[in-house]
Amino acid sequence: MTRAAVVGAGTMGNGIAHVFAQHGWEVSLVDSAPAALEKATATIRSNLDRQVKKGAIPPGAPAEVLGRVTTGTSLESAAGAELVIEAASEDPAVKFSLFEQLDRIAAPGAILATNTSSISITEIAARTARPDRVIGMHFMNPVPVMQLVEVIRGHATSDATTSEVMDTARALGKVPVEVHDYPGFVSNRVLMPMINEAIFCVMEGVATPEAIDTVMKLGMAHPMGPLALADFIGLDVCLAILDVLQRGLGDDKYRACPLLRRMVAAGALGKKAGRGFYDYPSP
Ligand code: NAD
Repeated sequence: MTRAAVVGAGTMGNGIAHVFAQHGWEVSLVDSAPAALEKATATIRSNLDRQVKKGAIPPGAPAEVLGRVTTGTSLESAAGAELVIEAASEDPAVKFSLFEQLDRIAAPGAILATNTSSISITEIAARTARPDRVIGMHFMNPVPVMQLVEVIRGHATSDATTSEVMDTARALGKVPVEVHDYPGFVSNRVLMPMINEAIFCVMEGVATPEAIDTVMKLGMAHPMGPLALADFIGLDVCLAILDVLQRGLGDDKYRACPLLRRMVAAGALGKKAGRGFYDYPSP
């Protein structure tokens, strides 16, 4: 496979387009918002320039890589792709509608992958006539830097689709890990309860956010404490994923901490809002 379409050009979409184009793929990057496409192109350019400064890629590479990325607002440009990676907003209605359209537009044998963090791959696949060719390809943020791709098999995903996607991830220089489609997959099912417990510790006055993060960094060798990580992910995103875990697994051990709910209601969403467990002065 050498032709990809990436749908959604936000934080994740631009990074996914970057990595595919850097590894020789022709990439069609689609977003319904023209401004998102402009911003994505600028971000890819500046990230490639940073790679040149670090000596990771030669000086001529950015122009070559950007030359392989075409942008547009019409989903029709996914027609020529062998692999489509959907990285649009984390909203089931948006993803269901996109997969219904992509199933009509994309070539019959094309693989339709989603970068969703928490929506069921099986439910997304059921919106198409090719559930065996639908799979989760969960990249981590920032995509050009993070090694992991969580490859999620829906109920009907075929072995052939899974192995093509695992091979593709390896060819992109990533490490794929195969998991099955249950709420939160592995990454968020393990991460979010830890973040939630750290928030309970703040609420109960067990320790300050700085102290909790220091315990986890120095005591458990985590590169980032759970509360700093929650701020980075976005507290609204953490809350939404905990709700998915609690509903999907039917177990109150995933109940979101009331302090998390209160902070989201107050707009203290973490880094993107300038305040969360820590303050982030505007740049
Ligand atoms: P984002 O909000 O930065 O970008 C989403 C983009 O999708 C926007 O540019 C928006 O204009 C576009 N979009 C929305 N509806 C569309 C449509 N119908 N057609 C075309 N484009 C559309 O979001 P993000 O953080 O990049 O997340 C994208 C996906 O990746 C989500 O499913 C999210 O759960 C997942 N994800 C995010 C992270 C993260 O750290 N941000 C990590 C892993 C996975």
